[in-house]
Amino acid sequence: MRKKVIAGNWKMNKVLKEAEQFVADTKDKIPGHDAVESVVCAPFPFLATLVEKAAGSDLKIAAQNMHFEDNGAFTGEVSPVMLKDLGVSYVVLGHSERREYFAETDETVNQKTKAAFNHGLTPIVCVGETLEQRENNETMALVEDQVKKALADLTEEQVKATIIAYEPIWAIGTGKTATSEQANEVCAHIRNVVKAAVSADAAEAVRIQYGGSVKPANVDELLAQSDIDGALVGGASLEAESFLALVEAG
Ligand code: 13P
Repeated sequence: MRKKVIAGNWKMNKVLKEAEQFVADTKDKIPGHDAVESVVCAPFPFLATLVEKAAGSDLKIAAQNMHFEDNGAFTGEVSPVMLKDLGVSYVVLGHSERREYFAETDETVNQKTKAAFNHGLTPIVCVGETLEQRENNETMALVEDQVKKALADLTEEQVKATIIAYEPIWAIGTGKTATSEQANEVCAHIRNVVKAAVSADAAEAVRIQYGGSVKPANVDELLAQSDIDGALVGGASLEAESFLALVEAG
């Protein structure tokens, strides 16, 4: 039985005071880590404070991106060593917004995924198609390619520990959720890709989230699907009450 992972991706929102208030409002109400993994993916400047504020609770803190090198002349970048040192536990990699606006590629996502494991961070690797790709029936091939490239050269144990987030770009921030059947169809396909590329055990263990306009009203139906092991949530993760409703569903 795979444990569900509910991750709130705040994107570029909130100021530090609001972020601290969110942790204060949620941390004692988060379900036990053995039941569900509850994660907040916060902007870099908040990470150190939020890790400290959430300490001792079951709320875990993630970064939304990182560089793949440990250190060096990479102005403006943040390394896995820095994240680990702060006590960050997860990192979102290859979000479609980073692929679209910040030149993230399948190759850099792969380098970052390997770097995350080298430093004991759990990667949440995002894949997903545009509306045009869906309409051209390219979804399955595209997602397969993204998954294979992201996971290239990982060990079987690392693949088992990876979280993959299937986020159809047309469903992000649009209010248009994929139907639970559409979402599950692609998540099941991703699991088959992992089975063929790695092993049946890895496919059984890997957690696959759905993301794209997930909210308290639709999360139960999505999580009830056979191959959906959690949710990566943008807008509906910003308010404490709504985030708590999502993790309760997990
Ligand atoms: P929304 O939940 O706001 O659609 O965002 C989804 C997302 O991109 C999470 O990473």
